[in-house]
Parts: sequence; structure tokens; C-alpha cells
Amino acid sequence: MTDAQPQPASPDYHDLPVKAHVEVDRFCEGCGYNLHAQPVREDDRLTLLIVRCPECGRFHAAADQTLARRVWLRRFGVVLIGFWGLLVVAVYLLLQLALFGIGMAVSEHATWWFVRRPRYAMQYGWHETQVHEPSQFFEFVVPTFFAALGAMAIGALCTAAATVFMPHWRRVGYTALAPIGPVLAACGYCMVLASYLDRPYTDLSVTGVVLAFALFALALISGLLGALLGRPFARLAASIVLPRRLRVMFSYLWVVDGLTPPEPKTVVQDAG
Ligand SMILES: [Zn+2]
Repeated sequence: MTDAQPQPASPDYHDLPVKAHVEVDRFCEGCGYNLHAQPVREDDRLTLLIVRCPECGRFHAAADQTLARRVWLRRFGVVLIGFWGLLVVAVYLLLQLALFGIGMAVSEHATWWFVRRPRYAMQYGWHETQVHEPSQFFEFVVPTFFAALGAMAIGALCTAAATVFMPHWRRVGYTALAPIGPVLAACGYCMVLASYLDRPYTDLSVTGVVLAFALFALALISGLLGALLGRPFARLAASIVLPRRLRVMFSYLWVVDGLTPPEPKTVVQDAG
């Protein structure tokens, strides 16, 4: 590594033979551009494999340097990746716990709504003057609607985030991820239901149980949609909100789907 300014490209850089392409995420030390998929050329005068950043024109040795600090950086990187993996799994499980919570809350709420209606309330021993017909719209439809929105958001977020942050997966991986969270949440919910079977009375109305499973199914369907539309949506969002300098770091969103990033790469003009 050198502190010298990037040298102007030799005029025949593009004539050098292409030996390979960069197959990992590797970032230009000059501008941060992701060099993934850039050609690796051999400079026969130097017998060096080199990569040139198409964004700022800086040259990089294709081979990793074996400096001592590089080794330590790599070890540190392994630790960071470990923490990153743990964080991803923890956030994912917390979201599924939230999905389970939404299912439980909808069940409880629907049950509460049903037993408050006079016909049931008086069966439970309430006096006629204590009960009134609860609002069907504001106390049943509206809360259930927002619960459904929450379940769909969790389902879509998990798979869409996977398409953006784990771009190396094959497409079937994102599809396979979609049912995992809803099935986990439904299993937790079934365990709660099983614990209710021991009791002499039913704590959850049939409608509540059906609603909970409907929400888990909604989360699964929106998860499949997230797997399908996550990356196109991320590309749209990146095009709209990110300034150009940051957007180059997300050009992999186009490259992994075999598309060309939206703006032509500006190659620094060869010094003449
Ligand atoms: Zn660069």
C-alpha cells in the first residue's frame, strides 16, 4: 500500500489481458467503489495482476497483501463477521417473537370482544346493565387491520432484508426463508393453545384462533412477496434517496441480478 496519488493509467491498460474477475466484495481504497465483477488484468512488464477502479481510476494489486497488520485485520474481520451474524439472527428471532405476540394479542382481543357482547357476557354471569354491544368497527375491525399490517410488515421485511444484505444467496434461499418465521410463530402459538386444553373452560374464541393463523399466513405470503420484490424495491429506493457517491456502494444490487447500474461509470480520462 502506498500513500502516493493514483498514477494516470497507462494508455494500454485496456489492452492488457483479462485473467479473471473480482469475485468478492472488495472496495476501492480511493473512493469506496465496490470492485466486485471488475476485470483482473495482468501487467506483463511488472508481472502483477491488477484491478483498476472504474470510478476513480486507482490501481489495486489483485492479490491480497500479506503484511502482518493485514493478518490481524483479517482476524479482527472474522470476529466482526461473527458478531454481525449473531446480530442478524437475534434481530430475526426478535421479529418472529413480535409476530407471535401479534397473533396472541389478536386472539385475546377477539375473544375479549366476543365475550363482551351481551349474549355471551350474561352467560358469564354479568348483569344486563353492565354490558353493552362493543363497536364492531373501532374495537374489532380496526385493531385487527393494524395487526394484519404489522404481521405483513414483519414477513416482508425479513425476506426483503435478506435479498439486500445477503445478496449472494440463490433465489430459492429467499423463498425458503419466507415460511420459517411464520411457522416458528405458529408453533409458539400452538404451544399456548395446548396449554389451554388442560383447563375446564376455553380462554380463546374460535374466531380468535382462526384470526391468529390467518395473520401467520399473511406474514408468510408477504414474506414470499418480499423475496420476489425486495431487491427491485431496494434498487428503486437507492435510485431515489441515495446521493451518487453513496449509490456506488450499492451497485451490487444491480450486478447480482445481471443488470447494469443506472449511471454509466465515469472512467477517469487517461492522461495524455
Ligand atoms: Zn475508486
